[in-house]
Amino acid sequence: MSTDPECIFCRIVAGSIPADIVHESPTTLAFRDLQPQAPVHVLVIPRSHYPNAGELARHEPATAAHLLDAAREIAESEGLLRGYRLVFNTGEQAHQTVFHVHLHLLGGRSMGWPPG
Ligand code: 5GP
Ligand code: ZN
Repeated sequence: MSTDPECIFCRIVAGSIPADIVHESPTTLAFRDLQPQAPVHVLVIPRSHYPNAGELARHEPATAAHLLDAAREIAESEGLLRGYRLVFNTGEQAHQTVFHVHLHLLGGRSMGWPPG
């Protein structure tokens, strides 16, 4: 499993930085975003370090699918019966700030487009 000791999300996986964890599996972890953009804002990440969703899908396609399945399970447990949005930001122009792939799960309000 790839890991980067400098990466903040790898440190959350290792348990050396606290997080409000809402889901754990052998390949994935999910926790609440520090600066939520919606009533429910959870980040779903692989335990392995990859910089973005495309690299994860290339190297660990099964884990990429696990992220989507984890998001479905969390959406159910958070009661997001009316829907939710899943977002992968990739690269600087998309305002990606943490370069350990993370799936944003957003819900609990009407999600207009473009995202605000
Ligand atoms: P990005 O802009 O890279 O797609 O999203 C990174 C997200 O990670 C942001 O929404 C930011 O609030 C969140 N974040 C950054 N550092 C931490 C942290 O240490 N803990 C938690 N829970 N969220 C973080
Ligand atoms: Zn990492």
